[in-house]
Amino acid sequence: MDTRYIFVTGGVASSLGKGIISASLATLLKARGYSVTIQKLDPYINIDPGTLNPYEHGECYVTEDGAETDLDLGHYERFLNTPTSQANNVTTGRIYKNVIEKERKGEFLGQTVQVIPHITDEIQQHIKLLGSNGNYDFVITEIGGTVGDIESFPFIEAIRQLRWELGVKCVSIHLTLVPFLKATGELKTKPTQHSVKTLLEQGVQPDIIVCRTEYELSDSLRQKIALFCNVQPRCVMQSLDAESIYDVPLQMQKEGLDREVLKIMQIPSINEPNLIYWENFLHKLKFPKSSVRICLVGKYVELRDAYKSINEAFIHGGVANECKVNLDYIQSEQIYKENVHEKLKDYHAILVAPGFGERGVEGKIISVQYAREKQIPFLGICLGMQCAVIEFARNVLGYKEAHSTEINPTTPYPIIDIMEKQKDLTETGGTMRLGSYPCEIKENSLAHQIYGQKHIFERHRHRYELNNSYLSELETNGMLATGINRNQNLVEIIELESHPFFIGVQFHPEYKSTIEKHHPLFGHFVKAAKDFKNKAK
Ligand code: GLN
Repeated sequence: MDTRYIFVTGGVASSLGKGIISASLATLLKARGYSVTIQKLDPYINIDPGTLNPYEHGECYVTEDGAETDLDLGHYERFLNTPTSQANNVTTGRIYKNVIEKERKGEFLGQTVQVIPHITDEIQQHIKLLGSNGNYDFVITEIGGTVGDIESFPFIEAIRQLRWELGVKCVSIHLTLVPFLKATGELKTKPTQHSVKTLLEQGVQPDIIVCRTEYELSDSLRQKIALFCNVQPRCVMQSLDAESIYDVPLQMQKEGLDREVLKIMQIPSINEPNLIYWENFLHKLKFPKSSVRICLVGKYVELRDAYKSINEAFIHGGVANECKVNLDYIQSEQIYKENVHEKLKDYHAILVAPGFGERGVEGKIISVQYAREKQIPFLGICLGMQCAVIEFARNVLGYKEAHSTEINPTTPYPIIDIMEKQKDLTETGGTMRLGSYPCEIKENSLAHQIYGQKHIFERHRHRYELNNSYLSELETNGMLATGINRNQNLVEIIELESHPFFIGVQFHPEYKSTIEKHHPLFGHFVKAAKDFKNKAK
């Protein structure tokens, strides 16, 4: 089948969940046997979100090929269980950069380079790139931002042109908000009408309108929206606020989203979606047999999106254990020696989060010490692993001033140090050790027990690493390096001999956890928390 294209735009407000709607539609189409991928086009000027503060835009998600991308790509992978790549996330910055580079090479042969056609052509090329190798039946393209934004105009224009070219091989879905007015007790459709009008002014008629709403949309409201927005009433669908994002594919199936998409594209709807594994997952999520309390010690705790993938990996790992994970976020800046017991005493496991820079690091190190000494299950991710090594160097090896050179460049004990390759870099964007690297696991280790294999691949995003000149001293004293990257001779996993579950990983396991395949580290970590809770009883 020729590749078909689905465009998802949003209106009225941001953060309505275009990513979840796109991922849900992709899930439904995949469950019918089609191959699907999703891409996100972001209208900001940054080349990628790698340089953005998590407070700005939530977590930066890293793909296998080392692209630093929007967190929506995490949803795509978690829902679809297929890896994404650099091609799945393109920003205005990247589009302009490519066009300007072509201009400098003289590729435009003396033409005046303009938004239309040069920028819009470049956008179209990126949209079609994923479909060009014939790997996918459907490419779903989500446009970031809301229609009417100045920044998103070239993207909407590119869609307008593509709709002419592709005809029935494309569908346009518009996600809006139908707010509920408490004072009158009514759902209001006007914002949706205005949003569609804005889209029409830019030449794009949506085929399907998905309305986010707190309450059921009545038939008459659906008809009203249909009438004002030139769509069939059955193509006005509701997306009710859900208990879990993992409910949304089933909600959208009930609304007929996949069925209508196929109908518009004139594709016979033969196989109904097979979602048994999804339903099983949801059942276990909603009816857990036990529960644990886990805390995440980090510095971006005010914003849940900053640790999105960790949050989701705990949901998957919890379901694998039929156990509800009550995850609390604790601000590491507010943890001191004097209050650490008070802050952490009620948890069955402690995760120390990834991060950059000095803020909150001492609180992370104190939390590691608490987990180590009290034998509480511990997982340290990236900076969390580095903190575990610093804590061990300070409190077990006795190097009180041990630190990472990221935080104290003149420490006499640089137990965590910058990678040789990173030393001469002058640019910040896209220059870390990024993406998937192999790791060899030592037998008879906790890591081996967790992974059940010797050779693994995990994704990375860091500049600093364990300083190998301290390795033998660490190992002699009970901190073992049980995962190594042989090519680069880098320590990727550390664990403690004399602890039931203490593991630090230089990579980010959370990026690889999906609904179909939870990540074993999170699965085993939740299990360790359960065991800890039962033992404490
Ligand atoms: N700041 C640390 C480094 O660059 C850790 C990075 C992270 O936690 N992702 O090595």
